[in-house]
Amino acid sequence: MKEIQVKSILNKHKKRDHLFLDDYSLNPYYGCSFNCIYCYIRGSKYGRNVTAIASKINAPELLEKELSKRAKKGEYGIIAISTATEPYMGEEKKLKLTRRLLKIILKYRFPVHILTKSTLVLRDMDLLEEIDENAIMPSCLNLKRGAIISFSFSTLDEKISKIVEPGAPAPIKRLEVMKAFEGFLKGAAFIPVLPFLSDSAENMEEMVKVAKEYGAHYALFGALTLAGEGKEIYYKFLEKYYPELIPKYNELYFSYEPSKEYQNMLEKEQKRYAINME
Ligand code: SF4
Repeated sequence: MKEIQVKSILNKHKKRDHLFLDDYSLNPYYGCSFNCIYCYIRGSKYGRNVTAIASKINAPELLEKELSKRAKKGEYGIIAISTATEPYMGEEKKLKLTRRLLKIILKYRFPVHILTKSTLVLRDMDLLEEIDENAIMPSCLNLKRGAIISFSFSTLDEKISKIVEPGAPAPIKRLEVMKAFEGFLKGAAFIPVLPFLSDSAENMEEMVKVAKEYGAHYALFGALTLAGEGKEIYYKFLEKYYPELIPKYNELYFSYEPSKEYQNMLEKEQKRYAINME
């Protein structure tokens, strides 16, 4: 894998993310080998070629400096790992970059929110347990946990998942790993749900029911965005497997986001299943 040096590693948000509750985000890698066809980084500033992956080799050094400074000032907040890559793709097994970063996070007692589709997250359960017990939460956030673990899905249908998330473990494997994280605050992030494929009211209700059976305490929902090269790739998928849906997508997407009405529908759904702050 290519190695790159970066200038910064910890992104501080202007405003806390309302879904994931993070004040910071951190991406140990650039790109992602899971190669989901709906991946939003294709149409974003993070680059077009999602599979041109690289490890940010100086990330531990930068994070050590950054967290030591912020801990001294008491600027604690949840760090989301990761928002623009998969922190536990296959290469992490050998490189252990995410693991090294978690050790630094533990040292400075910052809370984390892990976002993953990978089974490899099981390897770091020991560190996550320690973070969960020792992290200092920002006083304005009434959440008595130091680690939150979210597993991402776009569908629980194995056949669709195989096509749209070719490099990721099957949904059932993710559910099993979620179940294995006993004692953690954990849940399912259905982000994005796929219009007309996994977003009907019955579909979402069923997905939440299954996630709960595997121990989920909450469910998060997010809309599919389609921009640039990402939109071209997604439409090729529709042409090949679901051509009858193309007119419906055309009606839903006037811009890179779906219609306001659709977004409101998801938001309403989200309110029913948000992370419980008690
Ligand atoms: S796992 Fe996440 S970051 Fe990786 S390709 Fe899929 S959507 Fe993108």
